[in-house]
Amino acid sequence: MKMNKETASFVKAARLTLDKALRDGCTNEGYLSLLRTWSEQKCCGALLEIVSIERTSNGVKRVFKCGHSHTAISLEEASNIGEGISYSKLEMVDGKQKVGATVDGTRMPKEIREIAVVKLLCHHFKPHLEKFSNDIQDSPVDVIAENSSGLIENFQVTKLYDEQFWRDLSKEKTADRVLPEIESLVGDAIKRKVNFDKGSKTNIILAIDAWPGVMRELAEKMASLPVVRSSNFKEIWIAGSIPEMTFKIYP
Ligand SMILES: [Zn+2]
Repeated sequence: MKMNKETASFVKAARLTLDKALRDGCTNEGYLSLLRTWSEQKCCGALLEIVSIERTSNGVKRVFKCGHSHTAISLEEASNIGEGISYSKLEMVDGKQKVGATVDGTRMPKEIREIAVVKLLCHHFKPHLEKFSNDIQDSPVDVIAENSSGLIENFQVTKLYDEQFWRDLSKEKTADRVLPEIESLVGDAIKRKVNFDKGSKTNIILAIDAWPGVMRELAEKMASLPVVRSSNFKEIWIAGSIPEMTFKIYP
């Protein structure tokens, strides 16, 4: 089967990533089966063919002919953390049938996770931000993002539950039971901000790590929580792994 150049290099990369994932002992069956499918130049039963490529300074999105797409976010600033483990890139898939996010590596330290969450958010919603770094420990800022002219945005990243929880929540639609938890989570984030820099004018964007993401209905309920409305953050985002499951809930 003849392939265009982009498709050929994507299929080759899928094969190499699959080999590496197997060598590293990756046990994420969903991820492995995607890599196997792509290695055979297939996606959802169709022939995998890349029809367009969109680049931002943070990553690249490849759109397949079948309608699925693949977004790779480079995580080069994180590669020097953790010896012997490479976090060279974050890869994810979107489209109707396959939703998932994964990182090239078996463990992800908190600092890397924070950069990954902010970088992916910025890739989709703030593409002008292109340089990312972790702030000093115990500050209310976890990630500092910068654009080419030196403009800075400060991010605090907070996590509520693991990925499985958010997946189950999306399926079961029991949004109400999670709202009190979110209320106290945002409350804690506010305390961390206020206690640290009383009187400082630091503007902080709060990113709530909710990979793989939430449904619109839940985001709307979160947005109406009094603690969210009165939090004094510059912005509050529920950050999912795809733009369709990511929402700005404040302002
Ligand atoms: Zn497909």
